[in-house]
Amino acid sequence: MLYALRPLAFALLAALGSAAHAQAAAGTAAALDAAVLDALDLRIAAAAPRVIEWRRDIHAHPELSGREVRTARLVAEHLKRLGLEVQTGVGGTGVVGILRGALPGKVVALRADMDALPVEEATGLPFASKVRASYRGKETAVMHACGHDGHTAILMGVAEVLQGMKARLPGSVKFIFQPAEEGAPDGHDHHDGAATPAWGAKAMVEQGALKEVQAIFGLHLTGNLPLGVVGYRSGPLMAGADSLRIRVQGRGTHGSAPWSGVDPILASAQVVVGLQGIVSRQLNITQEPAVLTIGAIQGGNRDNIIPDSVEMLGTLRTFDEGMRSEAKQRIATTAQSIAAASGAQASVSFGPTAYSVTNNPPALTEAVLPALKLAARGRVTEIPKVSGSEDFSEFQKAVPGFFYLLGATPKGKEAATAPTNHSPAFDINEDALAVGVRTLSVLALDFLGRP
Ligand SMILES: [Zn+2]
Ligand SMILES: [Zn+2]
Repeated sequence: MLYALRPLAFALLAALGSAAHAQAAAGTAAALDAAVLDALDLRIAAAAPRVIEWRRDIHAHPELSGREVRTARLVAEHLKRLGLEVQTGVGGTGVVGILRGALPGKVVALRADMDALPVEEATGLPFASKVRASYRGKETAVMHACGHDGHTAILMGVAEVLQGMKARLPGSVKFIFQPAEEGAPDGHDHHDGAATPAWGAKAMVEQGALKEVQAIFGLHLTGNLPLGVVGYRSGPLMAGADSLRIRVQGRGTHGSAPWSGVDPILASAQVVVGLQGIVSRQLNITQEPAVLTIGAIQGGNRDNIIPDSVEMLGTLRTFDEGMRSEAKQRIATTAQSIAAASGAQASVSFGPTAYSVTNNPPALTEAVLPALKLAARGRVTEIPKVSGSEDFSEFQKAVPGFFYLLGATPKGKEAATAPTNHSPAFDINEDALAVGVRTLSVLALDFLGRP
């Protein structure tokens, strides 16, 4: 995910006090009788040590977005060993495995992301990453600082567990291991106006990964929810994210004689201030929240030269597609009008990041909730919106999809203060992995079992 989750670390204990009730209610999950769950739990217990081994192996060998070659090979070899139909190179390094149950039925997809981040690991774990790679022209450390190592290992575990239950599986399960969730692969991230090729989930969808699929499920690990707790939300869960670039073109001149040129520094300062009026004054934030941040601004090189131009970079986060397009329109108009007032020109472009809102359809959310509660043994809680983003939204644009967060607060840490995703100290409690396997397996079985 393109952001950290610390805001989620609110007091959950009261909510979890009602776990017993939730578990009783969960008994209504269709098509999942006790015998199936018992069989599932035996297989999960058998697979759990290997899931941890895979996670540690992947953690020690992180790969940046779009370069998940070793990870994809590990995944593909595992799926082939299980006897699944395997497609590699889907949307870059993506891998799709198809498990066909012995009984006829629907097709459900489960998704994991495989990429790591340019972060220098500071966990001190025995299997901490020592990997370095070239990124944006510089050598950088690489780390699984967002838990995608765990997601990949969990889904490998689910494939193993469900393969073992194939004889009574109605329908098929597609296992989707996607590259480049964290953003455009290095080299795609240009701003020269050229169209950026699709990456990550979008590229996999374009290459047919969701063919015949009727629903998709995915999860994200976070240290900021207590261990084993599932956080869910109906409707918008995570924000849409649009990166933006504004170039303010003035006319360079001597710093002592600004009237002989057009100062893009002052115009840019006014643009930055003006942009903050969009969320606070122009969008109807009673509908949904929004965030607009300018995170980089560059122009000039010394005290007495007014530069020709200034460039700034920012990010827009929204929870409604209508507000998203309105905000983008207003950003362009605001920057252009303010720059024009001083004789400068602003050109505004969006991308390469353009993630839609991660939106859990209410009907699907309601339908899966009993099974989710059953799978998480009642430890399920509704969470606030997250201003981070996920390209799981690309799958949800194609088929109904449900995304949830899974608590994995490391041993000896508190959810409220545990290192966030993307932090050099980010870590997970590996006991969460089995909960991940159980919840995704149950969601798939429940979906296939329902008429
Ligand atoms: Zn992530
Ligand atoms: Zn992330």
